[in-house]
Amino acid sequence: MQSGNLLSVYIHIPFCRTRCGYCDFNTYAGYDHLKESYVKAVVEEISRTSRKIDNDYLVHTIYFGGGTPNLLSSNQIEEIIKGIRDKYIFSSQIELSTEANPSCLPGDYLNALRDIGINRLSLGMQSASAKDLEILGRSHTFKDVEISVENARKAGFTNINLDLIFGIPYQTLLSFEDTLKSAINLSPSHLSLYALSVEDSTPLAIQIAEKVVPESDEDLAADMYILAMEFLEKHGFSQYEISNWSLDQKSQCLHNLQYWRNLDYLGFGAGAHSLYRQTRWENRKTITDYIDSISQSPQNEDYISPAGINLISLTNTDEMSETMMMGMRLTEEGISAENFLKRFGVSLDEVYSKEITKLLHQVLVEWVMVEGHSHLRLTKKGRLLGNQVFMQFIRD
Ligand code: SF4
Repeated sequence: MQSGNLLSVYIHIPFCRTRCGYCDFNTYAGYDHLKESYVKAVVEEISRTSRKIDNDYLVHTIYFGGGTPNLLSSNQIEEIIKGIRDKYIFSSQIELSTEANPSCLPGDYLNALRDIGINRLSLGMQSASAKDLEILGRSHTFKDVEISVENARKAGFTNINLDLIFGIPYQTLLSFEDTLKSAINLSPSHLSLYALSVEDSTPLAIQIAEKVVPESDEDLAADMYILAMEFLEKHGFSQYEISNWSLDQKSQCLHNLQYWRNLDYLGFGAGAHSLYRQTRWENRKTITDYIDSISQSPQNEDYISPAGINLISLTNTDEMSETMMMGMRLTEEGISAENFLKRFGVSLDEVYSKEITKLLHQVLVEWVMVEGHSHLRLTKKGRLLGNQVFMQFIRD
């Protein structure tokens, strides 16, 4: 099977117990009464969408994200997986991931997740510091993370990711280093590190505007990122994407690699995004709008999903540009010149000669040989100035 026929599936679970102070994700607290009808709607969306998807696709990753997927019962997660399995062929090596909030993750739930085939767990640890967790408005403690990891191991999970946030108000280099040490002591196979982005209208943005909490220091956040790169390399992790590190190649997140390689994926659930055969769309955003759109019949025939809105047909130029911007995030593999030529019928140099020359001159990108083939990727300096590099590949 060609990698071009590999499909990834994202399932959005937009339920949370409470809203964290920095969160602007598409998620809602107080809607637990809709969980059952939501799961039914997701299964129905999967079924109706599958009629419009070619049958030469092989699903090789499924990712439950949120929100808080572990607010669904393991039976509900299983119902959704079964809904996908009924309509698509699964790869024998399928990666089945779920995000989880450590505040509500009992051992028997983790056992049940393993029993239904979930083989990758991504825990929102965010920090080991009680002060950081309080500023972020997280409902869990670091102790919850320790217990969750221990229970996950007992349940048989070997592929465990920890999400961390840096650049939190009051956070220091020293306290961030403590967080990194605490994370490493839990022996995860993967780490994702994100700089805190304070989005307008979140409770944290309001506290900062009212000067109750100081603003994040961008220079300090950049120093934390450099510290993380050095620290994690010293502890045996390799950085394969701007924000992601893994212990070895088999622990890399296959699902996210699909996005970074700009390959097709279907997103199901409220506000989920999809990319299929040069077409992008998103789903209706709120839980109730989403459920209502699935029960509507007949659907708008222009759309692959009954919940789809904002359909965009991509031109070749759009697709090349997105492939460059996403692929340059991959700090080891970058963009393969050979794959680019195969996919678009023109060489990287023909399309982006001016941009690449400029970036080479600025030592922001480099050509390297990977398994005998030329790849263009970020330099270490380029990793710190990624946005400057990505912008070069935007075409009107
Ligand atoms: S648990 Fe995650 S999705 Fe839910 S409110 Fe907090 S940050 Fe947002």
